Amino acid sequence: MKKKPAAVLGGTFNPIHLGHISIAEAAAEELHLHTVYLMPAHVSPFKLNELHVSDEDRLAMVRIAAQNHPRLSVLDYEIRKQGISYTWDTLEELSRIHEDTDFWFIVGGDSFLQLKSWSHGPEILSRYGIILTIRPGISREDCLQMKEQYENQYGARISLVHNDPLDISSTEIRRRAAEGKSLKGLVPREVEKYIYDHRLYR
Ligand code: ATP
Repeated sequence: MKKKPAAVLGGTFNPIHLGHISIAEAAAEELHLHTVYLMPAHVSPFKLNELHVSDEDRLAMVRIAAQNHPRLSVLDYEIRKQGISYTWDTLEELSRIHEDTDFWFIVGGDSFLQLKSWSHGPEILSRYGIILTIRPGISREDCLQMKEQYENQYGARISLVHNDPLDISSTEIRRRAAEGKSLKGLVPREVEKYIYDHRLYR
């Protein structure tokens, strides 16, 4: 049976922004993926003071952002599971549940360079296809060098996607929201409205 290719984009999504949507769409388009699953990680209630935003709010914003993108779906698996979510466990569990799907994992350059040191990083690299996207501020050369290293060391399957690099981070959005600045061009309009209406990051 030929498995259908799909990918997971995991993140804190605090909040989701146009950089996330852009890499998810670029991966789906370039690699002909059936679906890209946006998967917010659970954040411990002990960290709420740090984050100011609940799982429910982050998940709601991811759902809103995915609304008009037929190839994007939202997975609330890690949030429902609670506890610390490890990407390896999640990918293994998803593969068990969806036997007909070949899961890839999407990362920006910053996460890609760290991947080896994640919990079960080497196993993730050996077993799951990785979709690498370029992120402004992260050296493309460093990413390409690491790509070669992962391929040689772990037999990793890595696809470099030619995404339009967008210099956007959740950190910048939280800072702008705290200062009451516009988020236009950084998050989908409806997400900006959600942040404003719920007075998030103030
Ligand atoms: P923060 O600023 O809070 O650290 P973030 O903007 O990095 O957040 P995350 O939710 O941590 O967002 O990112 C999830 C995944 O999306 C990571 O693999 C990250 O590398 C990738 N990513 C985030 N923003 C971009 C971007 N602008 N371009 C490419 N990849 C990105």
